Amino acid sequence: MVLRIGIIHNQEEKSIRVLQRLRGLLAMKDDLEIVDRDPQLVITIGGDGTLLSAFHRYSHRLNEVRFLGVHTGHLGFYTDWRDYELPELVNSLSDEQGTSVSYPLLDIVVTSANGQHQHFLALNESTIRKGSRTMVADVYIKEELFERFRGDGLSISTPTGSTAYNKSVGGAVVHPSINAMQLAEIASLNNRVFRTLGSPSIIGSHEWIDVQLKSSGEHLITIDQLDINSKEVVSIKYKIADERIHFASYRHMHFWHRVKDAFIRED
Ligand code: NAP
Ligand code: MN
Repeated sequence: MVLRIGIIHNQEEKSIRVLQRLRGLLAMKDDLEIVDRDPQLVITIGGDGTLLSAFHRYSHRLNEVRFLGVHTGHLGFYTDWRDYELPELVNSLSDEQGTSVSYPLLDIVVTSANGQHQHFLALNESTIRKGSRTMVADVYIKEELFERFRGDGLSISTPTGSTAYNKSVGGAVVHPSINAMQLAEIASLNNRVFRTLGSPSIIGSHEWIDVQLKSSGEHLITIDQLDINSKEVVSIKYKIADERIHFASYRHMHFWHRVKDAFIRED
């Protein structure tokens, strides 16, 4: 059986060098083939951002594709392999029995005033923000109105996305074995008149969040590193997706060790 491999890399000099070395190593293996279309394994070379791009490129085939990240900058959250470990990596692909680990994704439905729905998946998070004016939105958890939010915006993140934007707005870091999403506020207005919960909340996999926009004008909606064309959006619904992202040849790195390495100190 030949394993069909796609490679996605960023344009950094180091990534191009790693790409050339990886191509050379893969060419020596009869059971590994580099393809442009319909890969079974996608190797990314770069950072977490590179893996995010690869995810969106193949998000329509998540059941057929596994991912593997080689990092050429600092250690990433989605990139397990270092550039100097390429021979070991390629050997592990020849031997591997299709082992993988999977993580939760966000399922997002954006509804416009004309009733049109757009469907997306996010690996890190989705944010809703407003430019200069206060964003006003009714936040429903399941069918029930939970709060009327006023402030800069909201972030809804996956467990693996919890160390990205979510962390910058004071959200909790969530272990990726927990099948849940996190709602975090971005500068909420809280006083005697306006009231929100004021702390991040972790929402279960059997629940959903419906954000009904009440402020007028355009809102800025992001899904990972993409901006959504968001004219006339009236509501956005979030739940944990049925689909998951699968990573190949997973090398066990203790999640909290990785968090410590990234945010506290490297050892
Ligand atoms: P970017 O501006 O290069 O990303 C900002 C930083 O977030 C980079 O250092 C990136 O790592 C890191 N990152 C991405 N996913 C992460 C994760 N799951 N856990 C920890 N760090 C993570 O843009 P990008 O590379 O295209 O990534 C898009 C993501 O950046 C967004 O989904 C958002 O989460 C994050 N972001 C954060 C802020 C903020 O914290 N204020 C602002 C904008 C975007 P690499 O260098 O390895 O790519
Ligand atoms: Mn980046």
